[in-house]
Amino acid sequence: MNKLIWIAACLLCLFSTAHASESARFAIAIHGGAGTIEKSKMTPEKEAAYRAKLEEALNAGYAVLEKGGASLDAVVAAINVMEDSPLFNAGRGAVYTYDGAHELDASIMDGRDRQAGAVAGVKHVANPINLARMVMEDSPFVMLSGEGAEAFARSRGVPMVDNKIFDTEQRREQLDRAKEKLDRENKQDKDYRAAVEALPVPFRMGTVGAVALDQQGNLAAGTSTGGMTAKRYGRIGDSPVIGAGTFADNRSCAVSATGHGEYFIRYNVAADICTRVEYQNKSVVQAADEVIKQVLMPVGGTGGVIVLDARGNIALTFNTKGMYRASRVAGQPAEVAIFGSR
Ligand code: ASP
Repeated sequence: MNKLIWIAACLLCLFSTAHASESARFAIAIHGGAGTIEKSKMTPEKEAAYRAKLEEALNAGYAVLEKGGASLDAVVAAINVMEDSPLFNAGRGAVYTYDGAHELDASIMDGRDRQAGAVAGVKHVANPINLARMVMEDSPFVMLSGEGAEAFARSRGVPMVDNKIFDTEQRREQLDRAKEKLDRENKQDKDYRAAVEALPVPFRMGTVGAVALDQQGNLAAGTSTGGMTAKRYGRIGDSPVIGAGTFADNRSCAVSATGHGEYFIRYNVAADICTRVEYQNKSVVQAADEVIKQVLMPVGGTGGVIVLDARGNIALTFNTKGMYRASRVAGQPAEVAIFGSR
């Protein structure tokens, strides 16, 4: 009998130790887009600027988590920093449509209950991720688009901004190059890839996203983008599509994607990764590797994902030359990277 009590006490002790370390665990990962990013073609100044902004965004999210804040708040805090920077293809640095305007997409998802909010094709909202969150929390809908999304924003007191505030010289240059190529080859709808390949490195992509795990054990994911350069007006990519560009469920994982959106929609990338984690017991690294490298790559889908599970395991996986990325697990140093193979 004594022996039994002793075993029970030991088990209890083991459980509570594991539990204590689990409850102190929180983590965040962010991305600033995947694409043909090569060190040899990037100036040291540009690289330093990207690293600094990634770190600032990561720290903004990490600070929320460290104080015991919610993963949703951490995701929004991190994304806001990147939306407000002209370096990334979201908010201020959004790419141009073929017609020379900016149409922004964003989405957010709460891992507790799969609540989600998304906006597509908004032109006058400085921080689309905040509007996506309002759609989630303050409307019965999941996705609002274009004028309807903006009418909703106005009704909730969100200030409208001029579409020109998203203008930047480097994105204009990208558009000119893409248009030149598209017009020459007359392939606007058929061969988008050729146009993307004509764009100057390293500004081809740059969608932003974040995934976070808070001290309460809740996951959240968010993504914000200007889409793809020279896109046809009205084109909506994967970023605002729940299951394609964004997904979060405490039982499996949180994902934010970046890349050639049409493929991410067709292959339901974010949800597919979490499904493999949930039903096949795969690690986030294994699931992300399978989907990004074995499913997407053979069909020509380029891009990457950041993935986080409820134990704080992180995968930063891409099939392009680089992905702007950063991550930090509670108590460990921040990791910031741009180039590399994973
Ligand atoms: N996935 C985005 C889109 O297709 C673009 C990107 O990630 O750079 O709209």
